[in-house]
Amino acid sequence: MNTIEKINKDWDFVIGIEVHVQLETKSKMFSTCEYNYDQSPNTLTCPTSIGLPGALPSINQKAIDFAIKFGGAVNATVHSSFSFARKHYFYPDLPKGYQISQFDKPIVTGGIVPIWWDNKKYDIELTRAHLEEDAGKSTHNSSKNNSQVDFNRSGAPLIEIVTEPVLTHPIQAKIFIQRIKQIVNYIAISNAEMEQGKLRCDANISLKKKGIKKFGTKTEIKNINSFRNVQKAIESEIKRQHHLLEDGKEVVQASLTWNNEKNIAEIMRVKENADDYRYFPDPDLPPVIISESKIDSIIKDLPFLPFEFENRWIDEYDFKPDEAITLASTIHIASYFEKMIKYDVTPKNASKWITGELFRLFNEINIPFDEDRVLAKDLAKVISLSDSEQITTNSAKEILRKLFISDKSIDSIISDDNYLDNTDNTIIDIINKVLDQNPNEVDRFKNGEEKLLSYFMGKVMKESKGKISHKIIIQELNNKLRNS
Ligand code: ADP
Ligand code: MG
Repeated sequence: MNTIEKINKDWDFVIGIEVHVQLETKSKMFSTCEYNYDQSPNTLTCPTSIGLPGALPSINQKAIDFAIKFGGAVNATVHSSFSFARKHYFYPDLPKGYQISQFDKPIVTGGIVPIWWDNKKYDIELTRAHLEEDAGKSTHNSSKNNSQVDFNRSGAPLIEIVTEPVLTHPIQAKIFIQRIKQIVNYIAISNAEMEQGKLRCDANISLKKKGIKKFGTKTEIKNINSFRNVQKAIESEIKRQHHLLEDGKEVVQASLTWNNEKNIAEIMRVKENADDYRYFPDPDLPPVIISESKIDSIIKDLPFLPFEFENRWIDEYDFKPDEAITLASTIHIASYFEKMIKYDVTPKNASKWITGELFRLFNEINIPFDEDRVLAKDLAKVISLSDSEQITTNSAKEILRKLFISDKSIDSIISDDNYLDNTDNTIIDIINKVLDQNPNEVDRFKNGEEKLLSYFMGKVMKESKGKISHKIIIQELNNKLRNS
């Protein structure tokens, strides 16, 4: 048992997560200038996004639509009226001295994110999701003893998703964040690439003795930058707090940062409270009111979500959670699988071929799944030919590979390479040829050495280049050897 599991025997872990997702809109949250990842520093700015005096904010409609989409996806309450507030703090990447965020009237409250952990389903409750603007990006260069700020990101639209303190394990927290990425990918509001800083998360952690109801003092680890580090950072903080508590010391409410090199969470500052931020309604932005019908129409257009696919497949097709989770992993794979079913492939068979042969081909050259490489209707045809034994499993795999690497149509692959050339005549010709070439073995077989059947099988398979199914070869060989 590792240290975390040992600690978990006597202590409950209480974890709450705050995830920032950058919304993929053309322009920023409160200005018309654009944001793109990876552009030359300070080339994507405007008076509003760098907070020049007199510059006024105006709200990005698309960002609001995206927040509504998210609210609908997680079954939350989407409010038809909400407002923006100023959150004050001083840092070089925040030229206005405040960030426009939401405080007491966020756009989204409540909601549930269903996750799987260890084959069990957990409904993770959300507190809220609100819109806000991003700050710039500071780079600290310790060898040159200086820091630099890039304001391209200033004002980029974010949605901050906050959970209730309901997560109970570092692994569960990691799975939750992966689920958020998957959901925002499905509803196409963000690619949420952590390496591009488009999904960032803070983890809040406290420990309490088993059986005790009251929560302990929490700390918060800021800006964790990979899924793996989410788990590692929380584990490190659990160990630190456990050490303090076991020594009879107190946990002090604090913000920590994850140190990638040392593999520990380090205390950055003793934490501010909401009071310290001096929130107040942004006087430049009036409260927003949207019509219920607009909200409804956005929610109605949402695609089927990963947890909806999983539930359906588990219920209707008797899939194991893992199988359903794999097929629902991206919206492209999920809809590909659904198409296969429409082409009359059985769910089990579709799942087997997609997650087996097809995934293997993508993995071999390390590219993401792309339905144009092998159209669903072509894979369905390959499976149907193989199931009806018109081609061998081997041929089916070969055809699939040829579909994957070439632009040839399935019909020309099958006819050019003679995959269906196993007409009765061909089989009989091949069998006659093999038996003619092996008169001694034929005599021995007829004198009772029945195990020679597999010898003939091998010869026929070689001669037919593996294109004729075993069943048909055995049938025809038996016919020939026993009846003549
Ligand atoms: P703060 O004012 O520090 O931002 P919030 O109450 O807004 O605190 O909560 C921030 C996050 O911390 C939420 O995800 C919440 O679920 C989580 N949280 C709150 N209390 C605790 C606790 N005692 N232990 C762990 N997480 C907590
Ligand atoms: Mg917070």
